[in-house]
Amino acid sequence: MKCTKGGNFSKGELQRFGNIELNPSAGVLNYGQGLFEGLKAYRKEDGNLLLFRPEENAMRMIMGAERMCMPSPTIDQFVDAVKATVLANKRWVPPPGKGSLYIRPLLMGSGAVLGLAPAPEYTFLIYVSPVGNYFKEGVAPIHLIVENELHRATPGGTGGVKTIGNYAAVLKAQSAAKARGFSDVLYLDCVHKKYLEEVSSCNIFVVKGNSISTPAIKGTILPGITRKSIIDVARSQGFQVEERPVTVDELLDADEVFCTGTAVVVSPVGSITYKGKRVSYGEEGFGAVAQQLYSVLTKLQMGLIEDKMNWTVELS
Ligand code: PMP
Repeated sequence: MKCTKGGNFSKGELQRFGNIELNPSAGVLNYGQGLFEGLKAYRKEDGNLLLFRPEENAMRMIMGAERMCMPSPTIDQFVDAVKATVLANKRWVPPPGKGSLYIRPLLMGSGAVLGLAPAPEYTFLIYVSPVGNYFKEGVAPIHLIVENELHRATPGGTGGVKTIGNYAAVLKAQSAAKARGFSDVLYLDCVHKKYLEEVSSCNIFVVKGNSISTPAIKGTILPGITRKSIIDVARSQGFQVEERPVTVDELLDADEVFCTGTAVVVSPVGSITYKGKRVSYGEEGFGAVAQQLYSVLTKLQMGLIEDKMNWTVELS
């Protein structure tokens, strides 16, 4: 789908997967004018497919487009395009319990622009790929290192939207962490260097007793759709959930820690390394809270329990 600056997106069309042509001075290549989304389709036992809250991804893209000076498809255009792409690729959706189809909507400044300015033309496209688990550990506990020097986002920056540059910003710390055997990096706020932000591609939750805390959304972390859903699921299961500043000291003193995201679903954290000290939270498997929330969320996403919240969209 294409759109000129200040215009509306045209009706899209399905195309075979392949390379796309871009002008070397396209806004996305030179000035990072790009945004993406990520969601999944699961196959049910009856063969039908389920999307999870696709209108939330549409709304997040609209919010991000505003920050990046880009036009955006409407919620209906976004969701219809996701449905059409998934149905056209139905054969690639793994059987129940064997993974999912990852859906990647991408919005970019595709028009040519030489001096720094928003691009004159935009392209919205969607591609898909079957996926299994995100971390090599599967749903076994992951091991995080807290980063003290590098930051992924600053106040007033673009950390709260899903723009491509946020991911370039984490590559260095993430590669270094992986080379040392960690699964991923946990970032701290760049002002006080003591409040938790998020992991390179997921949000973080800290459990102490019956209380679950997660960093509040304040412009420097991504408002995860899994995060929002897990907060609702946890409250419906009787947990007390707080969205607030969470310190690294609370993290190190937690009973349980877990991450949430479309790709990682709910992943238990087995250990955190901070300033050379390693704190372990049960490296065997899920903690009790993460296990309970994982179980409810994945059953909902796969259509195995009643969807009282109306979160899933069924495609046949
Ligand atoms: N934070 C970051 C930086 C991410 O890339 C993601 C994945 N989209 C998340 C959090 C989790 O968001 P969601 O639950 O919407 O996938």
